[in-house]
Amino acid sequence: MRMFLAGSLLLAAVMGACAASEQVVVLSPAGDVADDLVARVQAVMEENLGVVVRVGPAVAFEPGASLEAIGRAAAEQRAEDAFAVLVLARPDSEQPQGVCLPHESFGILNLNRLADDDPNGKFERRIGQDAQRIMAMLVDMPPCPFPLCLLVGYEKTDDLDHMSGNFCPPCQDRFRRLAGEAGLRMAPAVEAAEAAAEAVEAVEPADAN
Ligand SMILES: [Zn+2]
Repeated sequence: MRMFLAGSLLLAAVMGACAASEQVVVLSPAGDVADDLVARVQAVMEENLGVVVRVGPAVAFEPGASLEAIGRAAAEQRAEDAFAVLVLARPDSEQPQGVCLPHESFGILNLNRLADDDPNGKFERRIGQDAQRIMAMLVDMPPCPFPLCLLVGYEKTDDLDHMSGNFCPPCQDRFRRLAGEAGLRMAPAVEAAEAAAEAVEAVEPADAN
């Protein structure tokens, strides 16, 4: 009987989560960015953040376009279910390392600034790190004071190479909560685990203490 009850609650929790969370993050290239690089960044983001990330269409831009202009173009053309667009850009002019405007639903990374030297795969790691930092900004998370957290402040691009590739556990929890409140669809593995945990709590409240 108990097994049956747990199963029913699990199903209800999964269905509830699907109905409430319909938004996704879109990852789009702009300029000379390889498809397989975009796919690998997507995989890192989904695994570390636990939210669904969809690869979107390439963003076209005028010669000399600023990061803001490219990001705005991406946000304007996004699909209805896109919470925000994160653009991996190779602009053709001198631009800052990145821009994030949560109220305009975009963040954009300038890959030209992350690739100064790439002897050991640092380039991709830096992109993954900055992509996650931008995601944190998009859901309005504050920086983290914990030195072993990806959300700690940094000054130079090289600093990223000595920093964590992940959020600390409290930031991870905060991100999932804020992402859920924003209506972001959780990655299937996270959704199933959270639904199972909720079902166990619902069945065995007395065991919590
Ligand atoms: Zn943290």
